[in-house]
Amino acid sequence: MAFFTDGMEAAIEEADSEISGLIKEELTRQRTQVELIASENFVPTAILDAMGSVLTNKYAEGYPHKKYYGGCEFVEQIEEIAIERAKALFGADHANVQPHSGSTANQAAYFAVMSPGDTMLSMRLDHGGHLSHGHPINFTGKMYKIAAYGVNEETETIDYDDLARLARESRPKVIVAGASAYPRAIDFKRFREIADETGAVLVTDMAHIAGLVAGGAHENPTQYSDFVTSTTHKTLRGPRGAFVLCKEAFAKDLDKTVFPGIQGGPLLPAIAGKAVCFKLASEPSFKEYARQVVKNASALALALKERGFRLVSGGTDNHMMLVDLRRKGLTGKLAERLLHEAGITSNKNAIPFDPEKPMTTSGLRFGTAAVTTRGMAEGEMTAIADAINDVLSAPDDEAVRRTTRAKMAGLCHAFPLYGKL
Ligand code: PLP
Repeated sequence: MAFFTDGMEAAIEEADSEISGLIKEELTRQRTQVELIASENFVPTAILDAMGSVLTNKYAEGYPHKKYYGGCEFVEQIEEIAIERAKALFGADHANVQPHSGSTANQAAYFAVMSPGDTMLSMRLDHGGHLSHGHPINFTGKMYKIAAYGVNEETETIDYDDLARLARESRPKVIVAGASAYPRAIDFKRFREIADETGAVLVTDMAHIAGLVAGGAHENPTQYSDFVTSTTHKTLRGPRGAFVLCKEAFAKDLDKTVFPGIQGGPLLPAIAGKAVCFKLASEPSFKEYARQVVKNASALALALKERGFRLVSGGTDNHMMLVDLRRKGLTGKLAERLLHEAGITSNKNAIPFDPEKPMTTSGLRFGTAAVTTRGMAEGEMTAIADAINDVLSAPDDEAVRRTTRAKMAGLCHAFPLYGKL
């Protein structure tokens, strides 16, 4: 089917031309702009099919063979397949594929082992952690005592000695590994050692790197972690959604926490999409994709450095990089807008020890998962670095942004998305 990608959109066009028109405009935006947001990707049309399917009509509270509704004989097979594929892909004892989002997946892991008032040790948001790792306005910051680790000021990489010291001092119930804006490989073995020494449960949030893990381009945290949480829509290139893996000892508590603890009926189109995503991610071509994502990130990072940009920690080991814009005299907020006007989508991001406010920032975050899906390789990364440099070196020159926008549309035209431009 793949609605909107092959002219099958007649029904929604008739029912609601306003919304269908906006979806079409979004499709054109995706087709014609260079997508560098590190948490985004373009799913295969097979996953669009699953997400737009009749599964949306079904309720299926509970787990396979223990459903609270009749008529679940097909949807519970879909869920079982998704569970088995997730376990096989990541080498896990147990998988729950029902969480609606990454934040909910984290909530499930925390609620399965923590009580309000317990201590959690996680990465500072302004050093790369996620809101659901303990931000004061998030449920985590409200429910738990947060002890936070960060990066070393000189190396801008995780300070594992300081992490160990903080764990000894704060005796957390849970240590969270994983981040939203950290360009370097994470030493999961070291996290395990620190958790063992201090009696903590290790929750690894691999949302950003899950596709690299599945494709063998980043170490797999599963063997080291008590819980692994993840979204499916970033480097893993699946539907918007999430899942949690855990050791057998936590399986019952995890499942009870997801349903009926924090969710009702699962989103079955998303579960079917996750099943397809896990299948595709286990194929040899996905290994090639994951390797190319990392190669493209290295190429983009190098090309940016050669053009005078400073990268946090000096580069990248994964799919993303953080650019420090202070040398260019720009803020993240302004740079994000200038690039957007030039047909390059990215997001402002705090850099460690950022002097600017969170809504302004001194940094930009770039990722290569989406452009790699289009088929772009190292040569295109150099062209994109040139475009970024042109635009950010001439913030007052609208003509540069106009010319770059045309160039970026041309680049996208050469790597069509969903069949055509
Ligand atoms: N965990 C990490 C590391 C993330 O980067 C994100 C989202 O960006 C999430 C969790 C939350 O995912 P969601 O937006 O699906 O709630």
